[in-house]
Amino acid sequence: MTSKTKQSVISRIIFNYLLDHRIKILLALLMMVISAAATGLHAWLVRPALDEVLIKGNKDMLFLIPIAIIIVTLIKGLATYTHSYQMSKVAHSIIAKLQTQMFEKLMYLNMKFYNDSKSGNLISRLINDTYYLRLAIVKSVTGIIKDVLVIIFLLGNMFYQSWTLTLFAFFAFPLALWPIRKIGKSIRKITYTIQNEIAVFSNVLAESIKGIRQVKAYSRENYEKERAFETISFIQKYFTKSAFISNRLSPLMEFIGSLAVALSIYAGGVFVLNESMTTGQFMSFLVSLLLAYQPVKALGNLNISVQEGLAGAERIFKLLDTSKKNMENISSRKTIDLDGDIVFKDVSFSYNDNQVLNKISLTIPKGKKVALVGLSGSGKSTIASIILRLYDNYSGSILINSKDIKELNLTDVRNSVSIVTQETILFNESIFNNIKYGNLEASDEEISLVAKNAGVNSFSEELDQKLHTVIGENGIKLSGGQRQRIAIARALIKDAPLLIMDEATSSLDNITENKIHETINNLMDNKTKLIIAHRLSTIEDADIIYVLDKGKIESQGSHEELILQSTIYKKLQLREQLENEF
Ligand code: ADP
Ligand code: MG
Repeated sequence: MTSKTKQSVISRIIFNYLLDHRIKILLALLMMVISAAATGLHAWLVRPALDEVLIKGNKDMLFLIPIAIIIVTLIKGLATYTHSYQMSKVAHSIIAKLQTQMFEKLMYLNMKFYNDSKSGNLISRLINDTYYLRLAIVKSVTGIIKDVLVIIFLLGNMFYQSWTLTLFAFFAFPLALWPIRKIGKSIRKITYTIQNEIAVFSNVLAESIKGIRQVKAYSRENYEKERAFETISFIQKYFTKSAFISNRLSPLMEFIGSLAVALSIYAGGVFVLNESMTTGQFMSFLVSLLLAYQPVKALGNLNISVQEGLAGAERIFKLLDTSKKNMENISSRKTIDLDGDIVFKDVSFSYNDNQVLNKISLTIPKGKKVALVGLSGSGKSTIASIILRLYDNYSGSILINSKDIKELNLTDVRNSVSIVTQETILFNESIFNNIKYGNLEASDEEISLVAKNAGVNSFSEELDQKLHTVIGENGIKLSGGQRQRIAIARALIKDAPLLIMDEATSSLDNITENKIHETINNLMDNKTKLIIAHRLSTIEDADIIYVLDKGKIESQGSHEELILQSTIYKKLQLREQLENEF
């Protein structure tokens, strides 16, 4: 982090976050002053305790001083409690605000951003980086201000008792600053690396735990272990390096402190012996010096956690600052219902460099059943994705009801499409809630009905809790075909004008598949349907079939026409016949 970015990170934290809580912070500051003053008062009270009580034998003071000490301590305790609590409250609400902002950002970042980032990385920003920042805020505001105040009050007392002696002790102080700065700088660098490495670790963990079936099936436990151990030992190495440096600070400071104490005892002893100073003065001075040791040391360590927090904050702001280019512009208000022909005009698209769609022109007429077939990798799913406008950077135009979808409200576009994606994504909730995800306003009866139509009932009835059975992470407790049926039910309950099924029945047996397609044909007769086919038998009755080949439309027509015209279609059919024979 350059000092300029550091500056901007700090001022951003102050102006955009800390200032929101100025009242609480002011209260905390006031309490810090009181608590610091109480520490100074403690040191000051040593002098009358010695000079008046022990040496002069003053009876009144014998009672007054212990009482004063108790009262001062009580006040100090209350003040310390209040400022600590207030500052924690501030820190927690700042972190909550940052987490909310990051999550908000994550929800509206586009697919291109997600294709290029690792989920573990993003998760670690919300969890890890905020943790360090939280510590830094609590420690730095409370720490810096409070400790500086305590030092000021104690110094005040030292000067008050004997300024010449204070100057002696001071020789040691500038010495202490040097290791603090130097060590802080190295720590900042290491912490940044550690936090990056932890993000990598989260990725490795997430992958091997999520993919545990593959790991076991391919006996790749050792491979995964090596991958994980490598990051673990990397993190260990850097943490050790960090400890190697940061732990020097304490003993170094202690040594410098002892220099100050030794010097003061020598000089103070001389002053007391030649009677230019009373014993009480000297002891009060010495107690101040000893009490100042703790806050000075804390200030030194504080630099470390501030640096850690700043490294975290930098990564947080990097996410929050992800350019507008990567954001989707979503307004949740529904403006119009989109229902009509869907027309692609010369649409070309590439994810990165390789062209996936090449001048595609096609029409999906309102209320018709249109099929898209082609070998895998020909670009079928991509067509579905860009109808949903998951990617915006295509050339050419896509019209729904003669309106260019780029000019429409994104929410309207997505509300007008029910899609069953090729990969079934389910949440670790009940079947019921997974279906309801498609339409949060659906009634229980409607959900039961689509569950029946999508063939969910045929297996849910056998489960203990029926539709209310929780299905595990991404439906791990179900078969592929069962998961697909839930996904289909979810799309049915959304009931949008356009239904897209992207190889949505690929995991079903022929009989169930045909049954579901029959139901969909009946139920959704008036809807526009785009079926990306796995088996041709399910789309033979489509009004138009487009055959896609390497991002181009190879041919189009009805089943009967294509059988005669399209080599690819013929090939696909042949493959299917062979499959059916075995
Ligand atoms: P299909 O659904 O016909 O099997 P896809 O539309 O999924 O084909 O993929 C078409 C091409 O786009 C493939 O070559 C694939 O490698 C590429 N592709 C798909 N998704 C991505 C992505 N997120 N990033 C980069 N390339 C992709
Ligand atoms: Mg596909």
